[in-house]
Amino acid sequence: MRRFHLYSLQILFFFTVIIPKLSHAQIAQNPAHLDVDLRDAPKHIFHAKLTLPVSPGPLTLVYPKWIPGEHSPTGPIVDFVGLRISGGGKDIAWRRDDVDMYAFHLEVPAGVETLNATFDCLSPAETTNTREAASTDKLAVLNWYMLTLYPQGRRPDELTYVATLRLPPDWKYGTALPVAKQSAEQIEFLPAPLNTIIDSPVITGTYFRDIDLSPGQSPAHTVHVAADGPAPLEATPAEVQHLRQLVAETGALFGARHYRRYDFLLTLSDRLGQDGVEHHESSDNRTEEAYFLDPELFETSDLLAHEFTHSWNGKYRRPIGLATPDYQTPMKGDLLWVYEGLTQYYGVMLSARSGMTPPGLFRESLASTAASLNDRPGRIWRNLQDTAISAQILYSAPPEWASWRRGVDYYDEGTLIWLEADTIIRKQSNGKKSLDDFCRRFEGGDSTGPKIVPYTFDDVVAAMNEISSYDWRTFFTERLNSHGPGAPLGGLEGSGWKLVFNDTPNEFERINEAATQVMSVEYSLGFEVHATGGEDSDRIVDVTPGSPAAVAGLAPGMRLVAVNGRRWSPDILRDAIRRAKGSSDAIELLAANGDFFHTYRVDYHGGEQYAHLEQINGRNDLLSDIAKMKAPAVPVPTSY
Ligand SMILES: [Zn+2]
Repeated sequence: MRRFHLYSLQILFFFTVIIPKLSHAQIAQNPAHLDVDLRDAPKHIFHAKLTLPVSPGPLTLVYPKWIPGEHSPTGPIVDFVGLRISGGGKDIAWRRDDVDMYAFHLEVPAGVETLNATFDCLSPAETTNTREAASTDKLAVLNWYMLTLYPQGRRPDELTYVATLRLPPDWKYGTALPVAKQSAEQIEFLPAPLNTIIDSPVITGTYFRDIDLSPGQSPAHTVHVAADGPAPLEATPAEVQHLRQLVAETGALFGARHYRRYDFLLTLSDRLGQDGVEHHESSDNRTEEAYFLDPELFETSDLLAHEFTHSWNGKYRRPIGLATPDYQTPMKGDLLWVYEGLTQYYGVMLSARSGMTPPGLFRESLASTAASLNDRPGRIWRNLQDTAISAQILYSAPPEWASWRRGVDYYDEGTLIWLEADTIIRKQSNGKKSLDDFCRRFEGGDSTGPKIVPYTFDDVVAAMNEISSYDWRTFFTERLNSHGPGAPLGGLEGSGWKLVFNDTPNEFERINEAATQVMSVEYSLGFEVHATGGEDSDRIVDVTPGSPAAVAGLAPGMRLVAVNGRRWSPDILRDAIRRAKGSSDAIELLAANGDFFHTYRVDYHGGEQYAHLEQINGRNDLLSDIAKMKAPAVPVPTSY
């Protein structure tokens, strides 16, 4: 713990500087009461009442802005409505700050010791790029930050709130927040610091089940599943075995746990979008309704492994720039290549180790990641470090021009960089040590309850050197500042594999294409196109600068109409690419650019190109060693 001492001091200094002097109206000690009512969740409106102990004088209440795990100022203030404040039986006027949209100023009248505030949060019916749906007709996910105010300048970990919850009739629920008592009317949770409440979302719904993932063991691990129908709840015995193996694999990897119990909240709905947000003692996982029903969806998803890994890497150990004292202080994302990049690496590896992702599909996934990052011209102007610093604006970036803008590449490029680091440690130690030892030391230690131990870049370098003496500072700095050409592929080679292209479709991308209905000819013609109906129908998502399609004049946002004179479809486009290989004729793509139509002649004759990994002759297959099961095998359950 000593190496963190310095940073603790820095945090104290930081707080001293930025937190405004507390006014006497803000130092009341009694707990606040937050009563949330989800009975209108099917109508996409959540209600709340806050009872806050105060004393007379000026008071500013704030709505959470910077949301942990989202690394962005995404508190849904536009959907925070219906705010009415009263005290002593009279309405109290409030005025929003002219600059900070998340702050509300008011004056607590003389004699008033309790403030009552009622408000609602709206949820869109479907998730979009900038707004996240939180409910359907049959289920809801409650993130308490959606329905919370707290006094400006106060630390959420020093404010005690008592939360209660009302649900629609017969809806069940799951959460990591400890329950005090429960009646048919409402659930009352134990008093808790506001940051613990906000760190403990609730999943609820009509179609609901719990599955024990570590039966008979302590701490408990449970997956709470809410779905839009009864059939999607039916996990197979093999799927339950893989999820239990995942719990066992994290024990083998980290050697310690930093939660009292762990609750996977799993929402299976095609309306809420695919997303995951990590917490210390739970995770909010949202994916397709058919997750348990379609083996291909289950096998290609690293969602649960990723969010679970964050309990160690991200929640317990956290970059100092993301370990902010409250929800109003801006976050700094410069170390997200550790927070998200290392988590991405272990999300993929733990999915393989636990048997969720079969070995062949695991390699296809890695090939897809490597090829995509290798083919990203935006690297010329934006290095990986800048993608991390820009996290707060990149999460909501549209997919158009992604190859030139770049996106949150510190996830997937993190996988490549940490794989390379892993292979270096394994080689230097003749196979005696690995990146797992770094995780055990840096993220494991002794088992504790939820707590935050911040770190800096120097801490990461020092901890890596404790495992294996190497110039890690230069290793990471070069990869963070590189402008290419190409992605860091040293880890593939170091683990015995190389990236190759041929005309056999990549299996991982084939499954992904079927799920997203976005067709990719990225490595041949150089673009991606929506192959589905609706608003996005036929829209070109991205065109890689410098590719044959870009040279021919195609650009993102155009709509593909025809290939060689015939209405386009994925099969017709693939066939045209195959036929052009033996021909000198260009492929003619008719596309609409707004209201104007043009024929673009793509002079490409290289045939279909899909990414794969190929083993390098004479090299050890370290990759398979890294991805193989490490914990004792968990049996397939007969009942659960
Ligand atoms: Zn993550």
